[in-house]
Amino acid sequence: MSLPTVVVVGRPNVGKSTLFNRIVGGQVAIVEDRPGVTRDRKEVEAEWLGVPFLLVDTGGWLPGGNELDEKVSRQVEAAVEQADVVLFVVDASVGLTEDDESVAHWLRHLKAPVILVANKADNDRRENERWEFLALGLGEPQAVSALHGRRAGDLLDVMLEALPEEARQPVSEIPLDDEGETLWNPNDVAPPRVAIVGRPNVGKSTLFNRLVGEDRSVVHDMAGTTRDAIDTMVDTPDGPIVFVDTAGMRRRSRIDDSAEYYSMVRALRAIDGSDIALLIIDATEGVTSQDQRLAERVDAAGCPIVVMLNKWELIDDADQRLEILAEVKRKLYFVGDSPILKISALTGKGVHKLRPVLQDAIEQYHRRVPTRDVNRVIADAQSRQPAGHGVKVMYALQGATDPPTFTLFVNRELPHTYLRYLERSIREAFEFGSTPIKLRVRKRSE
Ligand code: GDP
Ligand code: GDP
Repeated sequence: MSLPTVVVVGRPNVGKSTLFNRIVGGQVAIVEDRPGVTRDRKEVEAEWLGVPFLLVDTGGWLPGGNELDEKVSRQVEAAVEQADVVLFVVDASVGLTEDDESVAHWLRHLKAPVILVANKADNDRRENERWEFLALGLGEPQAVSALHGRRAGDLLDVMLEALPEEARQPVSEIPLDDEGETLWNPNDVAPPRVAIVGRPNVGKSTLFNRLVGEDRSVVHDMAGTTRDAIDTMVDTPDGPIVFVDTAGMRRRSRIDDSAEYYSMVRALRAIDGSDIALLIIDATEGVTSQDQRLAERVDAAGCPIVVMLNKWELIDDADQRLEILAEVKRKLYFVGDSPILKISALTGKGVHKLRPVLQDAIEQYHRRVPTRDVNRVIADAQSRQPAGHGVKVMYALQGATDPPTFTLFVNRELPHTYLRYLERSIREAFEFGSTPIKLRVRKRSE
């Protein structure tokens, strides 16, 4: 069965690729603030609440070939014709334009549902400006901020509802027999991968050398998936760990701007497939906007983060220390409960604190919760706050790890807000911390 297709359209600069990245979790395409940076992919498989779909970005397309040559335009038009759902993006910070009207005019003849997305609704005021777009005759505009993620989940809920019924069935995983044991068994899974990411010069290589060098039993260097990252497997008392080092790039480029850009690209590649990311920050510089952007992307990719404030030994003023910690809380608020370690990679001070933190994070990521405990938590959550209308979860289990994935067997479709509530309940009960968890829903007749 082919995946349902969701096509993103709209005039240039409204934020289509930002939205695209937000939906696919920042793993594939890279958006830059300046024009002319090519996008490396336009089509990718994405998933929301366990429902997979193909997401297509139409780039600079305008109906009739205004932007690209006519041939490309016709191909894009054919893709839009075959879409199951169209996300038509407009810019709430600019308001309605003629180009929006011509796209809308073209879209009105489609059979597929069109969802009007008023992007750049970064705050309440902007959100209210969405009503202007009612004039397009495409129904109620959904306000989002693709950049900040505001209401992106609500948009995806609406998108899911608009997919054809048969496409909306979540894929199920084969439920594993999982009585008893809750712990990750290091012998039967690939060793966890730990990515070391950060801006140039924050101390990534110094830390990497310390982590790897201090340990006598480095097993071997493995060729990384890309030439710009080096994987090194280290035998630790907690079992083998693969460290993925993204350092080394800083010497290669002359222009600072592009160095930052490529460190971002490399970091994203390295975290793709990593179980946890060590985000290194130069404490003497505080949290810069580049640090913030990198953290946002890592977080969006679903990779748990440990924040490492490096060069801590250079900050001897107590007030300054407090100030930096407050800044981390403020500027990296979205990483939530992620551990924050103060270290000096140069002297080695504080580096030992990483071990228990890594152990915890990796254990959380690989953990399997016994079925009876999952069911107890779901039952408690349902009795505290029933879904209503006789809808209920009859049975639940953890079907997979990495990340922890729970399968809920339900009698009827659960409201998405209720799914979020259950997700929160599971997260809190089993202390998953910053580890992303997934829910899959399967309908089962009573
Ligand atoms: P596209 O040409 O439609 O793919 O647009 P892009 O995704 O490249 O975005 C164009 C510009 O708008 C970029 O500078 C983005 O950072 C910015 N942008 C995208 N989404 C938002 C948003 O939600 N809020 C704000 N303030 N800016 C955004
Ligand atoms: P990378 O580009 O992130 O890999 O950074 P490096 O590991 O090459 O470090 C950049 C510079 O910061 C080097 O001169 C290091 O000696 C220095 N450095 C790294 N960690 C520390 C630290 O904990 N304290 C101090 N004072 N300097 C450090």
